[in-house]
Amino acid sequence: MKLFSIFGNPVAHSRSPLLHNSVFLHAPYNAVYIRQCVADEKDLLPTLETLSVDGGNITVPYKEEAFRICDEVRGIACKIGAVNTIVRREDRWIGYNTDAPGFMEAIGHLSYKRAVILGAGGTARAIAVAFEEAGIDFCVVNRSRGRLAWFASRGYCVKDWESFDPSSGYDLIINTTSAGLTDDAYPLEEGVLRTLFERACYAVDCIYGHQTPFLALAQNYGLVTQDGGEMLIQQAILANEIFTDGKISRIQLTKLMKEAFIL
Ligand code: NDP
Repeated sequence: MKLFSIFGNPVAHSRSPLLHNSVFLHAPYNAVYIRQCVADEKDLLPTLETLSVDGGNITVPYKEEAFRICDEVRGIACKIGAVNTIVRREDRWIGYNTDAPGFMEAIGHLSYKRAVILGAGGTARAIAVAFEEAGIDFCVVNRSRGRLAWFASRGYCVKDWESFDPSSGYDLIINTTSAGLTDDAYPLEEGVLRTLFERACYAVDCIYGHQTPFLALAQNYGLVTQDGGEMLIQQAILANEIFTDGKISRIQLTKLMKEAFIL
């Protein structure tokens, strides 16, 4: 039996075990997916080795550390500098990033020209690189300048709260901050957010599981809204294909994961 796990801190809330175990149970595929809290980033590699997992997902706050410990990083993860999916192949750790393509798949039905990415953490990095590859016009807006340096070094449009002009016509607004995750905060000053929403068509939040103040306000302005549930499912589908070398069809993965997600 193969063993997979999610690694991060915290991991208690994660729905990844539910999604992957539902697939392994019903596909069927001889594997199990557990969750493992890792207290410190230096413990990530020893934990992978001690549990002797065949692979897994890495979540907050260890995606950059996962990038560093991999023997080989493939695909878009090389540009992002963060890994959320790993597999062991002949005693080598191979890393991937499925957040970026998962997000693009999740919003593939939306028709937009200019996007604002609120936040400058790991999720924002993944989306920014995916947008760059897709040729989307976007700007990254963060409350503090520190984390914007990475985006600026890649030539992306970056603004802090003071320099950002919300009236310059963005049709897609994405929240990648953790504002609204466990509090009732907006990811941007409320007045600025209202100005953005007056001109936008879509609001997408990466947070899932409950309605955030960001999405509630967007709905008041008549925007089409979407939470992070579909992104979670899409990144999990892509990760599962890596775990199993594509042994389970995309159609079956989608059906089983969507059914499991609403449980
Ligand atoms: P990070 O910790 O890397 O980055 C967090 C960002 O949020 C920083 O830019 C930080 O700004 C900003 N921020 C935090 N609190 C506030 C606030 N109150 N107001 C404004 N800005 C704030 O997080 P991640 O990028 O890894 O994750 C971000 C979110 O995305 C999380 O809520 C996570 O649950 C979700 N997520 C969802 C996924 C899915 O599949 N649906 C996948 C991955 C993540 P500063 O630099 O100033 O501190």
